[in-house]
Amino acid sequence: MAVNVEELLSRVPKGLLICGEWRDSSDGSTYEVENPATKEVVATMASGSSADALAALNSACSVQDQWAATSPRERADILRRAFELVHERAEDFATLMTLEMGKPLTESRGEVTYGAEYLRWFSEEAVRDYGHSSPVPEGTLRMITRRKPVGPCLLITPWNFPLAMATRKVAPAVAAGCTMVLKPAKLTPLTAQYFAKTMEDAGLPAGVLNVVSGESASTISNALLADARLRKVSFTGSTAVGRSLLKSASHNVLRTSMELGGNAPFIVFEDADIDQAVEGAMGAKMRNMGEACTAANRFFVHESVAREFTRKLAKRMGQLKLGNGLDEKTTCGPVIEEKALKNLDKLVEDAVSKGATVETDRRAVKKPGYFFRPTVLSNVSSRARVMREEIFGPIAPIMTFRSEAEVIELANDTEYGLASYVYSEDSDRLWRLADGLEFGLMGFNSGVISNAAAPFGGVKQSGLGREGGAEGIEEYTEVQYLGIRDPYANQA
Ligand code: NAD
Repeated sequence: MAVNVEELLSRVPKGLLICGEWRDSSDGSTYEVENPATKEVVATMASGSSADALAALNSACSVQDQWAATSPRERADILRRAFELVHERAEDFATLMTLEMGKPLTESRGEVTYGAEYLRWFSEEAVRDYGHSSPVPEGTLRMITRRKPVGPCLLITPWNFPLAMATRKVAPAVAAGCTMVLKPAKLTPLTAQYFAKTMEDAGLPAGVLNVVSGESASTISNALLADARLRKVSFTGSTAVGRSLLKSASHNVLRTSMELGGNAPFIVFEDADIDQAVEGAMGAKMRNMGEACTAANRFFVHESVAREFTRKLAKRMGQLKLGNGLDEKTTCGPVIEEKALKNLDKLVEDAVSKGATVETDRRAVKKPGYFFRPTVLSNVSSRARVMREEIFGPIAPIMTFRSEAEVIELANDTEYGLASYVYSEDSDRLWRLADGLEFGLMGFNSGVISNAAAPFGGVKQSGLGREGGAEGIEEYTEVQYLGIRDPYANQA
């Protein structure tokens, strides 16, 4: 059933969530949220100041002990109810994401399912926070380890997956017994605000989750990172911002989780099933219009199959239907903002100036929003910016290679190490490539691999720590070791 957008927007809180109350910012300032498909303003939000950030931290600190003392089952039940509520409100969430971020409704619905899975997964993990017990080798002590919540957390999320990036942090923090301040991206706060309301409706006590978004991200984060009561920062976003947060986090020696940028190689060997590889490439490249940290950024195709792969990929990319994501027929939405659009144009110009061939239609798109036509480039030089930088848009640059050793070297020649993809029918290659590739994630004959049950995260400058999987909750806990005198042992 089609959602009434005006009525939905009227139900989304526009204020800051502090201690269970939705408030205006302390200085009355606001900022606007734009629909990238139409450039229309869809909402005006309260813009948090440093005083608001500190009020949110006060709120988180005031309930931290009480919240940590709740039973794991109680926390699990809240997450489970939230999982069910997100599904009940799936069309609301999907519509909000499409409105503020631009992706087609079918993709937004996919993100609702994916994002909700973190709530279900961590409702199950909340009650499985295992410790460890053993004697010390000398037999003098009994050793017990247990996990305790790390304490109040700052959670900073990007605009590209407005729901899933929030649930991936909020759910394990709730499961572990932490309180938090969530700072969503100012380009896409509506989904996060509606999610916070959903957590309240699921029974999360006031003060556990506080939400402060605003015009200036650093005003909010600097105030919080300077306060010794904050114990952790979990960030998903660009490597540049991640680096600066790591510096600020060093002041109070905070626990940090950093999910940063990527530059994923997509490798197609001569023995790959090419149709399957093209299908996988469409998922790995075009999910979210290419605006994903896991997006295939550099295509390396064996020279013997490069022509066939390029032709088929260009055909599929050319068939995508650009438009407003709220139109069910749209299969490719706009990119997020003007700056992104200009950068994509420059990337293509730069690649062409270094010898690349454009394999797809390059006519301008006659629509009011930030639309960029999906583009395939062949004969791309390894010096082209498009091979060195995170593209974050619908451009697929293709380079050829001759040998396995050569492609492993090419793929690793980046400071990033998040996702990688390999297509081959040779199963032994799986292990050789897994050993050779310096990436936290590898998809083998699969272009979409994110899953709440899997540990997601990068190596090198793609980040620190893992989200999801059994590892995800550990990021929100500290291990405490108890050394207990063994009454039956000879004590030294
Ligand atoms: P961004 O770094 O500009 O912003 C991310 C978040 O940080 C936003 O909430 C933003 O408001 C905030 N922020 C920006 N400057 C800040 C500052 N100085 N201090 C504190 N906070 C600040 O990134 P983006 O453009 O929103 O997202 C795209 C980036 O995120 C890409 O690099 C992408 O690869 C990365 N990303 C990574 C993952 C992952 O899991 N590794 C997932 C999604 C996106």
